[in-house]
Amino acid sequence: MQNQLDWVDFVLRSLNFIILLSLLVLVLYALIKLISHIRKRKSLRGLHLARMVCKTCGHIGQPDISMRGNLALEILLWLCGIVPGVVYTLWREQNLFEVCSMCRGKSIIPMDSP
Ligand SMILES: [Zn+2]
Repeated sequence: MQNQLDWVDFVLRSLNFIILLSLLVLVLYALIKLISHIRKRKSLRGLHLARMVCKTCGHIGQPDISMRGNLALEILLWLCGIVPGVVYTLWREQNLFEVCSMCRGKSIIPMDSP
């Protein structure tokens, strides 16, 4: 009987630990995303005043900001541990580039360029 109680106690403690850890990861992830969101909006203000022409589909307008890497890998790395997830997320945030808002093509040029 005593052994069984110990086991239940152990499971409950482990569950508590896992929940606490996931919450911590979630908070950390939200914080990084929030900071990047603010940074992105700042860069939007400077870059996106100019209208861009897409060389792929000919769309004229404000470009979107895109990130290198992919979300699936990012989530996978976060599940593997906090450190690789943080590193990969920060790397993605550093590698922002502009894409066409219509076709997501990368070959866009400013409208006033020859
Ligand atoms: Zn396009």
